[in-house]
Amino acid sequence: MNISWNHSLLKENTFGMDVSAACHVDYSTPEELTGFFASGRQFDLPKPFLHIGKGSNLLFTGDFPGTVFHSSIKYISRLSDADGRVRVEVGAGTDWDEFCLWCASNELWGPENLSGIPGETGAAAVQNIGAYGVEFKDIVTEVHCFDAVTCSIRTISKDDCRYGYRDSIFKQSAKGRYIVISAVFVLEKDGLPRLEYGHVRAAVENMSGDAHGRITPGLVRSAILGIRNSRLPDPSVTGNAGSFFKNPVVPRSMYEKVANYARSKYGPDYQVPHFDAGSGFIKIPAAWLIEQCGWKGYAEGNVGVYSKQPLVLINATGKALPSEIIVLEKKIIVSVLDRFGIELKPEVDHI
Ligand SMILES: Cc1cc2nc3c(=O)[nH]c(=O)nc-3n(C[C@H](O)[C@H](O)[C@H](O)COP(=O)(O)OP(=O)(O)OC[C@H]3O[C@@H](n4cnc5c(N)ncnc54)[C@H](O)[C@@H]3O)c2cc1C
Repeated sequence: MNISWNHSLLKENTFGMDVSAACHVDYSTPEELTGFFASGRQFDLPKPFLHIGKGSNLLFTGDFPGTVFHSSIKYISRLSDADGRVRVEVGAGTDWDEFCLWCASNELWGPENLSGIPGETGAAAVQNIGAYGVEFKDIVTEVHCFDAVTCSIRTISKDDCRYGYRDSIFKQSAKGRYIVISAVFVLEKDGLPRLEYGHVRAAVENMSGDAHGRITPGLVRSAILGIRNSRLPDPSVTGNAGSFFKNPVVPRSMYEKVANYARSKYGPDYQVPHFDAGSGFIKIPAAWLIEQCGWKGYAEGNVGVYSKQPLVLINATGKALPSEIIVLEKKIIVSVLDRFGIELKPEVDHI
């Protein structure tokens, strides 16, 4: 257990905010974590408590007055292998993409479409990460957690995690109660590639396959990484936290207003990108709305909107203050609200 005071978080948030935590606790085993809470040492630490991963979905709005916890529980362990299915347990502190690479290297199907998503496995279980038609919930079977209320380890089944779009019990009713320790996945030896989403099929077809021309998990992974690299800024180069806003889900009547606006601007055949969200609701990509308001590639002081993906706000110079990101966020929200009557909500957690 590593406890440090007045701890810099600069390297622990991908936005690159130069902030610190009053206290920081890093642990390497579940026993260390349970022993720590059982001893009552937590009562001596500054509150509130926050558990982070790699800080790739967070915006620290200033110095954190409490205690930040971080897991260094790192392992990938084969539990069983039967009937073409392999059960694997992964420690919460394991880099998510390291697990995706491990699967691809072992020719196991499951997380290949989720390759390249920054962050750790514990956070992936909280966020129900998703990309290119696949979500975390599609491959996980159970999540092991430390329960801060009972001070014990609990297994939570996939169903009980109540996964939804970037959502789970860990972000709702059980927020702050559970610390994810590991997750168990079922992977397929003879799985089928999922290529229907976006440009995945074209990207895979542009690659040659293995010596027999087969599509492998590694091939799909490479195609996905190629797509991601061409569209998203690398946080190690340009600070960002991925998609800053959620895609709004609006009543059909509101979508029709947006569609009328677009037809009057671009001609009668123009189609606003959208997805049916069921029950008379439509999901509109926030990126499209933001681009329509002229923000794509916008730069102001140390911050800006990424030129290839307007959903991503960036720390352009590496010296941005949290307040600069927040001012830009508010300007974008107001402009989209003024033009379309739709209020964007942040996907990134403001701490
Ligand atoms: C360039 C870029 C691209 C991205 N692309 C995608 C994408 O395609 N799809 C997608 O879904 N997301 C994407 N993201 C968002 C982000 O990568 C995910 O949300 C990721 O799961 C966050 O992981 P993290 O380790 O950085 O967690 P953090 O941002 O540190 O934390 C996220 C949440 O998890 C909680 N948490 C972290 N660890 C634990 C734990 N062990 N126990 C309990 N709670 C915990 C935190 O309290 C917080 O609520 C992207 C981000 C970036 C910067």
